Amino acid sequence: MFDEVLRSLLQQLMPLLPVLGPIAVMVVVLAVPMPGRGPRLLQSRDTWRGFKYAARRTVFERAGGRCEAAAFIAWGRCRAPASEADHVFPWSRRGPTVVSNGQALCRAHNRSKSNMRPPWWYVRCLERRRAAYFPAGASVRVLARMSEEDRAARAATPRRARR
Ligand SMILES: [Zn+2]
Repeated sequence: MFDEVLRSLLQQLMPLLPVLGPIAVMVVVLAVPMPGRGPRLLQSRDTWRGFKYAARRTVFERAGGRCEAAAFIAWGRCRAPASEADHVFPWSRRGPTVVSNGQALCRAHNRSKSNMRPPWWYVRCLERRRAAYFPAGASVRVLARMSEEDRAARAATPRRARR
């Protein structure tokens, strides 16, 4: 019984294969993350949940205080002022709270992104937009890993400077 249903279903789908195949491939390709930029396999969650202190200031300053999201899917740039420092690779998916994994977003864009793991084209388009407004010398590269400098900066943050 089940076999027959499956067989007839397959027979009906067969003629659609030339259409469904490429669509399935495209969906997979669009969802792939950019290799080498996400958290390492054994990386644990950062103990710092949100951006604060100097890291938060840097994320806002290099964005000129304006939202870094695309105005439409991957085109243009949002015109709203930034109100939140967001993790490009979400904290809940082990993205660390470091400047290289941060972006300034308006409230609406931060909400719509929620904990989506960014696909490769999201990261590529963000970096391309950034080249136009980041200050000279600031790296546009997204990297969800903690560098030795990040670690050192954290350890060196004096209590008084943690405002
Ligand atoms: Zn926005």
